[in-house]
Amino acid sequence: MPEHVLQSEAPERAQRLIYMDHAATTALDPRVLESMMPHLTEQYGNASSIYALGRQAMQTISHAREEVAALLNCQPAEIAFVGCGSESDNLAIKGMAFASQKKGNHLITSSIEHHAVLHTCNYLERFGFETTYLPVDENALIDPDAVGRAITDKTVLVSIMFANNEVGTIEPIAEIGKICRARKVPFHVDAVQAGGALPIDVAALNVDLLSLSAHKFYGPKGMGILYVKQGKRILPQLQGGSQERGRRAGTENVAGIVGTAEAFRLAQEELETVTPRIRKLRDRLIEGILTIPRSRLTGHPVQRLANNASFCFEGVEGESILIHLDMLGIAASTGSACTSGSIDPSHVLEAMGYPSEWSHGSLRLTLGKENTEEEVERVIALLPGVVEKVRTLGL
Ligand code: PLP
Repeated sequence: MPEHVLQSEAPERAQRLIYMDHAATTALDPRVLESMMPHLTEQYGNASSIYALGRQAMQTISHAREEVAALLNCQPAEIAFVGCGSESDNLAIKGMAFASQKKGNHLITSSIEHHAVLHTCNYLERFGFETTYLPVDENALIDPDAVGRAITDKTVLVSIMFANNEVGTIEPIAEIGKICRARKVPFHVDAVQAGGALPIDVAALNVDLLSLSAHKFYGPKGMGILYVKQGKRILPQLQGGSQERGRRAGTENVAGIVGTAEAFRLAQEELETVTPRIRKLRDRLIEGILTIPRSRLTGHPVQRLANNASFCFEGVEGESILIHLDMLGIAASTGSACTSGSIDPSHVLEAMGYPSEWSHGSLRLTLGKENTEEEVERVIALLPGVVEKVRTLGL
């Protein structure tokens, strides 16, 4: 891993950054960078060109596609490389909705999805689609039976996330998939947070469309994957060339595709060794942080991503905690979105039923493979003082 160094005004006091925001993004794995380098330099061909340099690029893409397909247990033709997780969600949802307009106009999703899903559903409502936003329980779990009850003969898509990006709850995707398959309704899964954290078998899960984003699993930014089950038709959202079997126009990002496949392979191969270590660090973090008065763990206590430790603290602003942590060299996040200067409480915590005195004080710490026990202990040692300071001074 590259050494993260935080530069202060006095370089001699430079301190190692404690990065605990892996749900936001991850550093490029050096092995991934190495796999990409030839395609950023001498192998610069356009995969549509007929001469050898172009054919080589096409072959490289085909190989990456085969690799990703094998990891997801699907066919290479069912994999499309796209520009990011958001694009993958957009293409899945708009692509399926617009292709199914003759069948119906009803979409089902949950109230805790990422905005890449929620805003896409909102957008489709302008074109006559109607969306059911399913509620969640206090642990952010979606009830599969509620999905079944919401399906009507006009439903053209169910879109439910694999794991929540704020609180880490893992949803019962296999059960929901079974229900959707039995009712013959296409099922899309936003697996952006699950990609580097859980094994994913699209056949076993009865999924029809699935979205991933490379920068969440130590791959390059600006790269996403969309799985589309054979026989499911989606309307492309970018017009132009016929790249990606007509599903996504635009000259392929060969280096990005190679890096995405390599990062996904490494993440999936290393799951068994990396996950228990991260889970242990995460559990220690939770144990230490819950000693802070008026603190709560948010999300499911057990059915949650191994790297996610998310909390809320009563009577504080999460953003103030972040600023203090940043000054101490700790990178963390809240779940809240900051819109035009005003701080909105997290829609996820609201959906889970948290009152605003709690939902404003959210903190998400997401661990990665480079975090150490010392870093965890340092955060446990520093955070109580930060929360106390913000509580008493209100900043
Ligand atoms: N979906 C989820 C659950 C996410 O967490 C994110 C990013 O945080 C996205 C979609 C969007 O991915 P990208 O940043 O690659 O557009």
